[in-house]
Amino acid sequence: MKVALFDRPHSLRVIEKPLRALREGEILVKVEACGICGTDVHIVEGTSRSTPPVVLGHEYAGIVEDGGKTFSPLPSAKEGVRVAVDPNIACGVCFYCRRGLVHLCSNLRALGVDIDGGMAEYCIVPAHQAYVLPANVAPEVSAFVEPLSCAIHGIDRANIRAGDLVVILGGGTIGLLMLQLARNAGAAAVIVVEPLAEKRTIASRLGAALTIDPNTEDVHDTVLGRAPEGADVVIECVGKTTTMQLAVQLARRGGTVEFFGVSPLGVSIPIEPNLVYFKELSIVGSYINPHTFDRSIALLQGGVVNIEQFIIHNFPLAGVQDALEHQRGGKTLKSIVRPHM
Ligand SMILES: [Zn+2]
Ligand SMILES: [Zn+2]
Repeated sequence: MKVALFDRPHSLRVIEKPLRALREGEILVKVEACGICGTDVHIVEGTSRSTPPVVLGHEYAGIVEDGGKTFSPLPSAKEGVRVAVDPNIACGVCFYCRRGLVHLCSNLRALGVDIDGGMAEYCIVPAHQAYVLPANVAPEVSAFVEPLSCAIHGIDRANIRAGDLVVILGGGTIGLLMLQLARNAGAAAVIVVEPLAEKRTIASRLGAALTIDPNTEDVHDTVLGRAPEGADVVIECVGKTTTMQLAVQLARRGGTVEFFGVSPLGVSIPIEPNLVYFKELSIVGSYINPHTFDRSIALLQGGVVNIEQFIIHNFPLAGVQDALEHQRGGKTLKSIVRPHM
């Protein structure tokens, strides 16, 4: 079968790789759609952790080709069903797992990062990592289950209360998912800050009360014009030092700042501790997707979160480099590799 193998920084090659036999508890998934995100871009650039050589792709779904052998047959191990794959595999026995913090597992390994993932014609998946998809979730939509599951954890951590004013920095895939989740969490108004006009237009269509172009408008003044005390909640979805600092400045006293965007390793920002004290800020992080996969599928199934407005580009497996380039350049909200297209 054909796979996109990452073997060292700046080397992602489509090669032929033999498929090994299934082991106990594993299923074989024929990949229908595999989304590409910033993490894949960073892995290929060598700035994000991974265990090469490895087949990339951690945002994927497909059809169960072989249900393998499991002691207790899972619905996700039935041949012919469509499944989305949660790539993050916790060990279940470490300090964190035993406290229910599976996403902080000391032995966490991920499909598409440490173990062969979904940028391939077929992928071997532990059956318990697969979730059955409802019929109305199309293949293109299925690639959003994973990123949405991460955004849901982010919304849980942001602690939005009914009537809050929420500022989202960055109107990319995650920012636009956060916008929809924040509105559904009860935000009275969501302001999206995004330099690209196309993405600001989508944000408006998805119900942003206001969009701000940081290149032509003063974000601080505009937000304070709308909310003189500052925002109740600020969610940073960019990962740059400038937007992280801005996030802290935009929050009102008693407000919450969430650093959701992934910044490069070793980068730091100055924060005035007295301001955190005086404003009684809550600064929170959010890491991957503990127990949010089911909720993600439910929101997509119910049309509560929709991606119809999103700019999506599909690529064959052979076009994986182009797909990556599109994602890197911000030309698309989501590059999706369709190995059997
Ligand atoms: Zn991702
Ligand atoms: Zn663990």
